[in-house]
This record gives sequence, structure tokens and C-alpha cells, in this order.
Amino acid sequence: MSDLFGTPSDPPQTSPASPSLFGDSLLRPAAAATPAAPSPPPYRVLARKYRPHSFESLIGQEGLVRTLTNAFASGRIAHAYMLTGVRGVGKTTTARIIARALNCIGPDGQRTSPTISPCGVCDNCRAIAEDRHPDVLEIDAASNTGVQNVRETVIEGARYAPLSARYKVYIVDEVHMLSTAAFNALLKTLEEPPPRVVFIFATTEIRKVPVTVLSRCQRFDLRRIPAATLAAHYAEIAAREGVVAEPEALALIARAADGSVRDGLSLLDQAIALAGDGPVTAEAVRGMLGLADRSRVWDLFEALMAGRLAEALDLLAEAHAAGADPGVVLQDLLAVTHAVTRSKAVGSAAVSSAMTEEERARAPRLAERLSLPVLGRAWQMLLKGLAETNEATDRLAAAEMVLIRLAHVADLPTPGELVRRLIGEGSAANAAPAPSPPGPSRIPAAGTPRSAGSHAVAAVAVPAEAKVASLPSPRSLEDIAALASAQGELRLASSIRAFVRPVRIAEGHIEFRPEPDAPRDLAPRLAAFLTKATGRRWTVAISTEAGAPTLAERDRLRQDSLRARLAQTPLVRAILDAFPGATIAAVREAPAMAAQLHAGAAGDPEAADVVFDDALEPEDTP
Ligand SMILES: [Zn+2]
Repeated sequence: MSDLFGTPSDPPQTSPASPSLFGDSLLRPAAAATPAAPSPPPYRVLARKYRPHSFESLIGQEGLVRTLTNAFASGRIAHAYMLTGVRGVGKTTTARIIARALNCIGPDGQRTSPTISPCGVCDNCRAIAEDRHPDVLEIDAASNTGVQNVRETVIEGARYAPLSARYKVYIVDEVHMLSTAAFNALLKTLEEPPPRVVFIFATTEIRKVPVTVLSRCQRFDLRRIPAATLAAHYAEIAAREGVVAEPEALALIARAADGSVRDGLSLLDQAIALAGDGPVTAEAVRGMLGLADRSRVWDLFEALMAGRLAEALDLLAEAHAAGADPGVVLQDLLAVTHAVTRSKAVGSAAVSSAMTEEERARAPRLAERLSLPVLGRAWQMLLKGLAETNEATDRLAAAEMVLIRLAHVADLPTPGELVRRLIGEGSAANAAPAPSPPGPSRIPAAGTPRSAGSHAVAAVAVPAEAKVASLPSPRSLEDIAALASAQGELRLASSIRAFVRPVRIAEGHIEFRPEPDAPRDLAPRLAAFLTKATGRRWTVAISTEAGAPTLAERDRLRQDSLRARLAQTPLVRAILDAFPGATIAAVREAPAMAAQLHAGAAGDPEAADVVFDDALEPEDTP
């Protein structure tokens, strides 16, 4: 949504809504110029005045124009078009241009076929532009979600020939809002399209449109318009309006428009109104957008990363007083984090044209000082903090809490650094003959996010020699689950782990008590699978005895005991002490350690015993 330092939507409306503590010199005149009215009159002026009426004036959508030109030239008119793209990118504008292109009869009224360059002066062109053509109907699906409306206005109406135009055109905006029933009704019409009827659908959420409908449409993805293209467009409009505007001011507007011509034009309108008879300056636009001076955001980031909390809080208060929303400040910090991280990762290739000179200089300087893990941590904390701030009733307080946390961890090592540091110290100390626990390096990374493959832990307890021999004739529930996984029966395997309480297992026979929510056909499926997989008849019986815990339960118990034991080891204790509130989320083995462990388990059993007993033995995922 928001661009670098940009506030995404209608900033002039958000800034009065977020109370500014100490008033603001730049915003007040704006508010005065457009008293109370949420949509000031100038908005309509530019966006309407420069609304494209032909494909040539449609900026940034060359691909669409080329495809349509070719299609029209060869007389291939689709029955339905699907226009998709983000808000404000020009979907309905494009739809209207297509409607005109289909129906233009030329200035002399003699044209008999669609044209890629509608004249704009004939009756049809004018009526469509003014939204009063009887054969071009625009429907907002967001307000016509009922099947009845679509049936009446579109499907019934489509059966009649156009009154005066060449094609009857139905423009359905936000088509993804239609109900399933409405889509089904529509689909019938699309399957046997009436002659001389064209549907133009527009949507911001293409994934919500049923594939059956999509497959009957010619689809166009309208691109988000690049900031540079927008800025050039606005420069041209400003020139035509006789308004002097600083290039940086236009660049700021283009960035805040976030790919939408329309949004940017409304901002330009406001900037012009704000400037009065004077030039549109970058400073004024920045104030209007509620943006803190960008260099101040960089100052804030630097203060945070250096742990200078008081300075950081002052800077936040200053931005807030200038009308910046606390959430926007956090977004700006995210953008700075991103810019610095990019600079760190790819060096000078990270320089983007959207950056000012000063930022181009500052990003690499900061990148030199900060490590990737530290930047990653800042990113995570800001993201989380932004979500919190957006939910908070007191947004400023919430944002302050985020900054305090950030400044607080600034001088803390990342977990990775800490482990390395402790290991370094530990092994130096352990060089003494004292029989200290060997190899803290054998401890798997703690506090790392739970791995997706936690299910795989189930296969652990199989003795190594049994594992090889037992695959064709499973003897334990673990064997059976592993066999199912190995043969690609993943759903069965997960059912076995979650729902089977084993009562008795012998070769060719298994008795279990299913969990209450087990699939009904679990027993027959299991029997069929085992019989097929082992080449021997298996009987599967449901028992009323309590049975042993399920594999999933055992995994959980194992994880709990692992966690409890890990928490007692000196290294992990040190980590937990260093990060108050940290918990061990899951215990996972690191690949490098696994190899070490296997070697260790065979050659030097003691080495592996200290932290890992059999319950801790790393799994071999089958
Ligand atoms: Zn025309």
C-alpha cells in the first residue's frame, strides 16, 4: 500500500483525524482551504479534466493497448473482458474507453466497425463519456451483490439487442463481490453469449473470481504505474495548468500515489490549492502528506540502532506534533530498514531512483555498521509493532513502546551472536581437564521457530537395526506411520499419528482405540494399506481399551521434556537470562549437528548422552 515514506490513502483526511499535539503550521492552511468538506472541489477538477478518453492518453498500460489494438484490427472482439489491478489504476476508465472503442461511429457517423481510437465527438462517444448511454451500463457489484440484481439488470437485459449502439456493454465493477448464485447465473450467459453484448468486468481481487468465469474472459492485468511515469505525467499536467511545481514535490506525490494516477491527481489538486498562487514546493507537499522530513526518519532510525532512546522518543514526538501518524512513522522506519538491508545485501545495486541524494549516502554508511541479523530483527520488531500500533487506542503510546523495545535490544547481541560468543567462551573454559559437559555445540538451536516438519519426529524411536529390516513388516505404530509416509500416504500417516491409540500390535494384526474425531474409515483404510504395503493380510480391530498415547501426544511430551531439559543446560539458561521473556518454542536439530551426532553416537556414546538421550535422538525422516 504505502510507498517509501508515503502515506497510502487520503493523507489530508487522516492527519486531522490523528490529533496533533502541538498543532501544525503546514496543515492548518490546508484545513482552512478546504473547510470540513472531506472531498474538496479541486479533486474533481483535475481527475475529471484529465481522465483519459482514448488509449493513447492511458499511461503506463502499453501491453493492454497493444493487445487490444491487434484484436480490434483483426476483428476479434471478445464477449467478456476481465480487467484486474490495484485500486485506482484505471480499470473503470479503461472499461469506458473500451465501450467507446466498440461503439464509436466517427465524427461523420459513417464508421461501421470498432476502432482503437474512438473519436470522442460522435453521439456514442459523448454519451458514454457522460455516463448516459442507454446501451452502456455500469454496475457496481459491491452494491448489487444479490443474484436478483444481476439477473434483472444484466442477464435479462442482455437478451435484448442494443438500442442505438453497435454493442451493448455491461461494465461490472468489483465483480468479485458477486454471490456464488450470481456468478452461476452470469456463467450461463457467458457460456452462450448473446450477440452484440460485451461484458467488461473489473476487479481488485482476481483470486475471488471463479475460474469458470475467468476462463471465459480475455484478461488484462493493469500494471501499477511506476512512480517515475506518474511524476512525469503530473509534471505535464502541472505545466498545462500553468502551475510551477518542484520536481521533488511531484516525485513525493507520485510516490504517495502508489501506482494510482487518480490518487496522485487528487493529491496534486490539494497541493495546488495549498500553494495558492505560489509554486508547489516539496516542503509543503511533505507537510500536506503528513510526512516527517525524510532525513528525520533516518535520524530516528540511527538513534534507535545506537540505543539512544531519549533522542528517538524526541524525534517521534516531533514527527507526531508535525501531524505524522505514529503508524506512518513506523512504516517509514520499515522502509529505512529495508533500504539499509538492501544496501547491505547487494551494495550499490540497491540504490533506487526513489531515494534522495542524502539517503543514497546514508544507507551504505548504516549498512556497514549493522549486521544482517540485527536488521532482520529490527524489521520483525517493527512489523509486529506496526500491527500493535494499528490496533491500539493510543497509537502514539503504542509506537513509543515499539521504539523503546527497539532501542533496548539495539546493544543486545542477536541469538546467533550470543550462541557463538558463549560457545567461544565455553570451549576456552572447557579446555581445562574439568569434566564439564562436552560440546555445547551439540545443543540444537533453541528458540528457533517451530519447523514445519514437526510431524516427522514420530519416526524417532525405532532402533536402528530394526528400522532397515522392519520396513516391509512393521512392528510398531511408528513403523506403520513411517511406512505410510514413505509410500506417499501422507493423510493416512497423519491420521495414524493423530488418532490411533495403540492397544496391541503384532505382525499382521493391529488393535487400537480411535480418538473421537478420527475419520470413520480409518480402520478399513489402514487394513487395506497394510495389506497392500506388506504383501500380507492384516486384521485391524477397534478396541474399547484405553490404549497407549497417540504418536502426536508422545511427540508433544517428548518436546516438553526436551524443552525442560534444555532449559537447564548452562548455555540455554544463559540465553534465556539474556532475553527476558524468551521461551524455547521448539527443539530442532541443525543439519550440521545431525552429522556430528550420528558420528558421535556411534563412536563416542558419552558425547551424545549428555544432552541427547534416545528420546532426543534426531529423527531420520523416512
Ligand atoms: Zn466516436
